[in-house]
Amino acid sequence: MRCPFCESDDVEVVAPFAGQIITCQVRCRACNTYFEAIREEFESSTTSSADDR
Ligand SMILES: [Zn+2]
Repeated sequence: MRCPFCESDDVEVVAPFAGQIITCQVRCRACNTYFEAIREEFESSTTSSADDR
């Protein structure tokens, strides 16, 4: 996951859910900008989430 503004990968998730359920709010430490990212892009720990709604 990288910042769409400065292309830096020094980002952190600040909120698991943002405006939509498939997105989360991420902050870039490099340019200190908040943006939304698709959760699927960094959802690696959950493998079997078929009935986890
Ligand atoms: Zn940035």
